[in-house]
Amino acid sequence: MIIILLGPPGAGKGTQAKDLAQRLKVPHLSTGDLLRQNVKENTQLGKLAKQFMEKGDLVPDNLVTGMFVEQIKSADFKNGFILDGYPRNLAQAKTLDEILKQRKGRLYVIYLDTCEAIIIQRLSGRRICSACGANYHLKNMPPKRDMLCDKCDGELIQRTDDREETIKNRLAVYLKSTASLIDYYERQKKLYRISGNDEAEIVLNKIINLVSAEDK
Ligand code: AMP
Repeated sequence: MIIILLGPPGAGKGTQAKDLAQRLKVPHLSTGDLLRQNVKENTQLGKLAKQFMEKGDLVPDNLVTGMFVEQIKSADFKNGFILDGYPRNLAQAKTLDEILKQRKGRLYVIYLDTCEAIIIQRLSGRRICSACGANYHLKNMPPKRDMLCDKCDGELIQRTDDREETIKNRLAVYLKSTASLIDYYERQKKLYRISGNDEAEIVLNKIINLVSAEDK
């Protein structure tokens, strides 16, 4: 099965993708994580992508899609996969349609419908581990020790694009470029709406119930 997680920044796509991957035992692919890794390693792609990411803009399609296609080809995705952060506009959705034509497995596009107040609260309190990338939240999911990762002792930092002015731009970019994908997949009868306002565990169970019931 192939699952696309769709929704605004702060809807919980990253958290759900990681948990779903564990529960369903399929890999997940996050274009945001891959891009951040490239920035951290100062690769050519990272150098080009950084300026767009810091402003909360989309990284141009030619850069992201090349990276995405390489990843899909090289990883063991034959039993399906979970996508977090791709596609983010119509051109990317069409590229993905072409890729999926050559693959078996039912497609579920899960739209995490989330209200703006919750998005802002989640993004402004989010902290990530600078070493392993694990996600925390100052209020909802604090680390056991002050600003240190529970898993690897790395230092917790705020993503540069989680600052208030950048959050506003990311939401605007989402509305302008990504939100139209809701209609796109609804027309293909692939879209499933789930509230992203609830706690992570509740959302996770709703997704698992949905894909398990539909797959029978
Ligand atoms: P995310 O971790 O999914 O919130 O992504 C962080 C940032 O990476 C986004 O704000 C974009 O700048 C960039 N990004 C991630 N995925 C894509 C994509 N599919 N297309 C263009 N830019 C992307």
